[in-house]
Amino acid sequence: MNPILVSILALFWAGLASAPAPVQLKNSQTTTPPKSVQVGQGEVARWAGNCKRCSFEKRAWPAVNGTCYYPVDMEMKPGEYTISRRTTGGKLESARLLVTEKPCRQEDITNFPKKEYITISSQNQARASREAAVIQPLIAYQATVRPAVFDLPVGKPASPLPQGEGNFGACRTINGQSRDRHTGQDYPIAAGKPVQSVGNGRVLLATDGFYTGNAVYIDHGNGLISEYFHLKSFTVKANQTVQKGQKIGVVGETGRVTGPHLHFGVRWYGACINPGFLLIDPAELPEVK
Ligand SMILES: [Zn+2]
Repeated sequence: MNPILVSILALFWAGLASAPAPVQLKNSQTTTPPKSVQVGQGEVARWAGNCKRCSFEKRAWPAVNGTCYYPVDMEMKPGEYTISRRTTGGKLESARLLVTEKPCRQEDITNFPKKEYITISSQNQARASREAAVIQPLIAYQATVRPAVFDLPVGKPASPLPQGEGNFGACRTINGQSRDRHTGQDYPIAAGKPVQSVGNGRVLLATDGFYTGNAVYIDHGNGLISEYFHLKSFTVKANQTVQKGQKIGVVGETGRVTGPHLHFGVRWYGACINPGFLLIDPAELPEVK
């Protein structure tokens, strides 16, 4: 290539690679381009350092140890959103949050063993509706959140914790009929093995649900709720305080399952997110920059 052309190109690329120049405003104040973060559906973004309060889509919550977390529901419409934070120094800052689509994995289950889940009787439909009416308000975003009593990463829901099935958010059919998306991660663990709370908290509900089987819901403060389904049995009750790592029940195959496993899910400020993101070092989460 012509050496002059090479040096022109080098200058061009050097210009692109350098930080964008500050924008000069009319009143001679300078401002830097907005910060941003890109995150997939069902993932969590973070804004680290000196955060006091965080807001997203007209919802607000306190920071966790100085960091704002922005959980993105698995069904949140892809696109551009604005997130904000109030720093410990009282400064209000905003950033762009770009939500990208995370296509759902298709799972078609045939020869489902439990007949009551293939053709659902009106009696069972009514039961499932009654149960949903109790649970939905408990796991939805609450305007007044209790202080966080958990740390990130959270603890494991079972020990040892095998590799998950990778089926968070899966779109499923049972014998060809479409079903709701999968709200958690399934772990292949034998029936009878202990299940433990992933953090300090308070039991919201321990119940036998039509779809969930024996299920425990734990509130860890600051809008974080963990869910453990299909247990053979549970050993906690509503309003009971639990500690991180405390046994809450044992793995089973109750509810709509094809076999024994642990279903672990989380809701954070009402968003259904992949629980795997709370099990990793929070420094690995996509960060506002
Ligand atoms: Zn599951």
